Amino acid sequence: MPELSKRTETFTDSVIRRMTRISNQYGAVNLSQGFPDFEPPRELLNRLAEVSNEDFHQYSITWGAQNFREALAEKQSRLMGRKIDPNAEIVVTCGSTEAMMAAMMTVANPGDKVIVFSPFYENYGADTILSGAEPIYVPLYPPEFNFDPDELEAAFKQKPKALILCNPSNPCGKVFTYDELKIIADLSEKYDAFVITDEVYEHIVYAPHKHTYFASLPNMWERTISCSSLSKTYSITGWRLGYIIAPAQIIEVAKKVHDFLTVGAAAPLQEAAVTGLRFGDDYYRQLRDKYTEKRDLFLKGLDDIGIAHTVPQGAYYILLDVSEFGYKSDLEFCEVLARDVGVGAVPGSSFFREDVNHLIRLHFAKKNETLNKALNRLEHIRTKINKR
Ligand code: GLN
Repeated sequence: MPELSKRTETFTDSVIRRMTRISNQYGAVNLSQGFPDFEPPRELLNRLAEVSNEDFHQYSITWGAQNFREALAEKQSRLMGRKIDPNAEIVVTCGSTEAMMAAMMTVANPGDKVIVFSPFYENYGADTILSGAEPIYVPLYPPEFNFDPDELEAAFKQKPKALILCNPSNPCGKVFTYDELKIIADLSEKYDAFVITDEVYEHIVYAPHKHTYFASLPNMWERTISCSSLSKTYSITGWRLGYIIAPAQIIEVAKKVHDFLTVGAAAPLQEAAVTGLRFGDDYYRQLRDKYTEKRDLFLKGLDDIGIAHTVPQGAYYILLDVSEFGYKSDLEFCEVLARDVGVGAVPGSSFFREDVNHLIRLHFAKKNETLNKALNRLEHIRTKINKR
């Protein structure tokens, strides 16, 4: 038999998604892969039921249904402070996973360098490999996960084609301040690089922190490829609706890439999701309040148990320090945690470039009863897991 592609030899399957399978196998409360267990807004579900009897069962226009793009342009113009053209400046994709991949393929040639902050969402590693690009990692230092501007400039001096910015950040929960974004903006201008953003947690930000769209910084519209999705905002991760917003000449190319990758996102789901895109500001306020309550509930539970953890400024992930258990492999620790304690987590090493094996990631996008169930189980962590 001929050999399989070399390209696929350098990365594994997704550890995040593998942990969901392991959690299910042990009947653990799955706080690994980040997705809600509560219902999406009723209005979306009702509209989805109606749509099933309407005429939305064939391909939509490959770069997104007109209705969806218009509703999205209206919402994002309001938020990003710039009139976005629904016809020339948007591509609708199958989740932000495809948006990021298409963005990478749009800007990077094989051998091009791309700056990635570490810790980072694991897809970016595979995205760079699949598009032939080479990552340059720049560390974010705990507890605030700040970057060192000199280290960032040293990375820019290697002439990267782009920088990937996950803001609010998965897994460390950092929300970049305006001043930090301005440093990135100035360097990307000075060294002439694109910025590809992943802003899927744009609406999950805890006071007093505020989300700033990178594309809204002075002069940044031209060089920013903004990727996001409806998954987290409307609790519909399975609908796989994402998008890229960028200047027309970039979107022109992204449309081609997207067209041959997936043709298009599901037409009936795009139509049903328009209902969500047209929600007023109240919806986003309530979403933030709901996640703030969940975050506080979960952090208090962890404090009562006495496990050190990060305090997220945005997104819905917490990194827990499990060094007291003395495991060399955080993957093994997570398997034991799922099996013996009954809680699913993601090993921190899948997010860090550095040699880190004492952190695990939990998420709190779950009903309060699910979070309490997980906390009740975690209370027994020290009796159920022996120290190494
Ligand atoms: N972004 C989510 C996480 O980090 C879900 C990832 C996925 O499987 N698409 O867990």
